[in-house]
Amino acid sequence: MRWRRTWTRHRNKVFIGGFMTLLFIALSPSSPISHILKKEEEGVVIVNGERKRDYNDYEYLKTEALQTGPGEGGIPATLPPELEKEKDGIYKVNGFNGRLSDEIALNRSLKDIRHPKCKDILYLAHLPNAAVVVPFHNEHWSTLLRTAFSAYNRSPKHLLKEIILVDDASTKDFLGSKLDNYLEEHLPIARVVRLPERWGLIRARLEGAKHATADVLIFLDSHTECTTNWLPPLLEPIARSYKTAVCPFIDVIDFENFEYRAQDEGRRGSFDWEFYYKRLPVLSEDEANMPQPFKSPVMAGGLFAISSKFFWEIGGYDPGLDIWGGEQYELSFKIWQCHGVMYDAPCSRIGHIYRKFAPFPNPRTDNFIARNYRRVAEVWMDEYKKYLYMRQPGWLETDTGDISEQLAVRERNKCKPFKWFMENVAFDLEKHYPLIEPPDYCNGTIQSMADTKLCVDTKFKGQFDRLDSLGECSSSSQFQFQLSAFKDIRPLKSHNCWDVPDLKDKQAPVLLFGCHKGLGNQMWKYDMMNKMILFGHPPTHCLDSSTSNREIFVTRCDMNSPTQKWRWGFVNEERLSKYDQLDPKP
Ligand code: UDP
Ligand code: MN
Repeated sequence: MRWRRTWTRHRNKVFIGGFMTLLFIALSPSSPISHILKKEEEGVVIVNGERKRDYNDYEYLKTEALQTGPGEGGIPATLPPELEKEKDGIYKVNGFNGRLSDEIALNRSLKDIRHPKCKDILYLAHLPNAAVVVPFHNEHWSTLLRTAFSAYNRSPKHLLKEIILVDDASTKDFLGSKLDNYLEEHLPIARVVRLPERWGLIRARLEGAKHATADVLIFLDSHTECTTNWLPPLLEPIARSYKTAVCPFIDVIDFENFEYRAQDEGRRGSFDWEFYYKRLPVLSEDEANMPQPFKSPVMAGGLFAISSKFFWEIGGYDPGLDIWGGEQYELSFKIWQCHGVMYDAPCSRIGHIYRKFAPFPNPRTDNFIARNYRRVAEVWMDEYKKYLYMRQPGWLETDTGDISEQLAVRERNKCKPFKWFMENVAFDLEKHYPLIEPPDYCNGTIQSMADTKLCVDTKFKGQFDRLDSLGECSSSSQFQFQLSAFKDIRPLKSHNCWDVPDLKDKQAPVLLFGCHKGLGNQMWKYDMMNKMILFGHPPTHCLDSSTSNREIFVTRCDMNSPTQKWRWGFVNEERLSKYDQLDPKP
């Protein structure tokens, strides 16, 4: 050992001496390598003492702008009529219009919908390199390849080290050697890792991460498209501090016509106490700082970057999480509780095809999702887990399996309690998703006083269709509603609320939209005395119905109209009498 140390020291001296000489020669203007050094510095500017660089690829943007064809620029595309007959079979196995995807170029151009300031942002001149990891199970050919090509084409080449596609036991023929050969010829930076059997997306991501050698892991779904300059905004916060994960903004690629469009301009990720993924408003100080990255409590799950070092320090994903479900909570809690930080980066936008329906059959016979949720709750959520079990007592009947390794991760990293996460990171979660449900103002059936055998019926045609009927009253669940503490009306335990977006009509339809708990066009009130269900603030309109065609709608309130009179199954009179004084929360 001794001689080795001496040699190292000696070698360093030789190296430093050599370097100084080289630098001296290089900096003299007549030196043959002076232009190389200069070139390396080209484009680097010093901003507030930091070396920064413009990563926009102007050449690529120029060639892209000349492309023509279906779906170019992310505008909606249509199938030529002669191909319509090939549509359905492919649709069924994907949950999106795969046949149309095949008509769209693998390197199609996309419009730039980023915040206008994004174009001008410079990023650190030195950034870590990245591996893109994409798990797939029976993905469609052109959507899988478009994922890989868009990531590659729109990345600074020195920053993207590898693309690892993890085949989770796909059975489609073309995903075998045909895919390997295609990649070898057309996209050699990408390779396929194959799993021996269906492990699900969590362990597929883990396996891909194990094969990756880059500094940063970037996980993508297998039907996504990375947009211009997507990579540097994900890498920079990690370059500054390695205990960091960064999520892009996730845009929508339309499952039917492949249009590329924004979902919104950002929210903070969250969850409710049944473990539904939810989103919280952006904080006003973050809004003022746009488009700088802002902190987010929970990732959406499929698309994010994390330093490989930090990922493995916190044990990667729990390998006991089967197939899918709960992994975004596990990793988010771990990142925060184990001394890391998570950001959303508005200047990195990636499109995702949200499927029209789930095309794969459930690969397990047991309740793997409940087990996953329980593992996350037991390891990370401390006393807060009871608020989940209160609503889902069935989860307690599921055995977590061995969680000793996960508890050891928590111990080893001296991770903080969940209470710290709730108070410091997800500090406004409870306001939107209270631990204990506040009591309803009214609930049960909503019976028409004009024809007492009729009640409001949840049998609606689809999420955005109007509730179309009154039905024959019964105690079955389709007749159960709540006038909740949030002052909205919803089918019992539903996350969709009665919403009247347009009051201009004489008879305005009552639609169902995701409950936003923000009053406005979801604010309802029950007038106990007159038995009327009032809408709006101030309430000018009332729930009305036509007992002949059994439709319900909203019209101007009329005290004398029997079709505007309703009886709730249960009325919390004491609470209702304080309705105007109570905040729309607990
Ligand atoms: N996936 C996988 N194995 C599975 C299920 C899904 O590898 O058992 C992949 C899938 O191909 C996709 C990602 O995991 O790349 C997320 O799944 P999916 O897109 O079906 O979920 P969604 O986005 O619809 O929630
Ligand atoms: Mn997906």
